[in-house]
Amino acid sequence: MSLRNECRNCQTPLSAEETPNRLCDECCYLAVDYRRYDDLREEGRMPYQAKLMCGLADPPDPDDE
Ligand SMILES: [Zn+2]
Repeated sequence: MSLRNECRNCQTPLSAEETPNRLCDECCYLAVDYRRYDDLREEGRMPYQAKLMCGLADPPDPDDE
């Protein structure tokens, strides 16, 4: 069994013991947002939509064509 030991936000390699949230020190402030994200994903939201709802992704810029 292999776990991906990298930060789920910035892909920094992590050691499993230190990372219950799979977030590095710089991203651990996002743990609450990522918990919401996981909840939304379990409800069947698409990854991008869930990230938008948690403020983890930037919405598309309507002026950007
Ligand atoms: Zn990170």
